[in-house]
Amino acid sequence: MSATVDPLVPLVLLEAVRSVDMPDDDLEAEFVDELRTKRFGLSDTVLAQIRRYSEAVRRGQRLPFEEASGIAKLIGRRPDAEAVFREAGRKLARETYARISAPTRSLIRSMPTLISRPMALRQIRRIGRRSLGGSLRRVGATVLLEVRDGPTLDAGPRQAGCAFYESIMRELMQLLVGGVGAVEHVRCATRGEGTCEWRADWRSIR
Ligand SMILES: [Zn+2]
Repeated sequence: MSATVDPLVPLVLLEAVRSVDMPDDDLEAEFVDELRTKRFGLSDTVLAQIRRYSEAVRRGQRLPFEEASGIAKLIGRRPDAEAVFREAGRKLARETYARISAPTRSLIRSMPTLISRPMALRQIRRIGRRSLGGSLRRVGATVLLEVRDGPTLDAGPRQAGCAFYESIMRELMQLLVGGVGAVEHVRCATRGEGTCEWRADWRSIR
């Protein structure tokens, strides 16, 4: 069986390109037709793909890995690649958080940490497995996310693609348990370390 991705991944990547490429002000908005030909994110191609991926998300239909890695490579060539990957990460975190049932979300928010942390961890682990092809483990007071073959890893220079996962981790922990210390990129496949790994301090959470 060939590798697949959660359709949410290519969807948030393209949505991030689109939002970063959106006109900043009224002056730019006046020239939106002209911008459309210059900015990839505003093109009809991107809009059509966003619709296609939204449909795949709705149907729960996984997509070939190459669809996501191809888009990630395109983003990787942009000078603002890291900002786009970070924005995509925030979008994925918000979207997956919104899928957690409301009662579970409020339980995690209101329970004492002794109970809420393992619940939050379970949610992050599930999201990591399903949407990121990654694994999550807790080591003492830290939480480690490991991703072996992410579609955005190696997508751009200076570990730009790794920023996608860091951003997801930070935003998810923020949403679930309200705040986290630094998320550190402790191992990186682009440095020849075989796999990418991020460490978040679990203790710094309320
Ligand atoms: Zn990395």
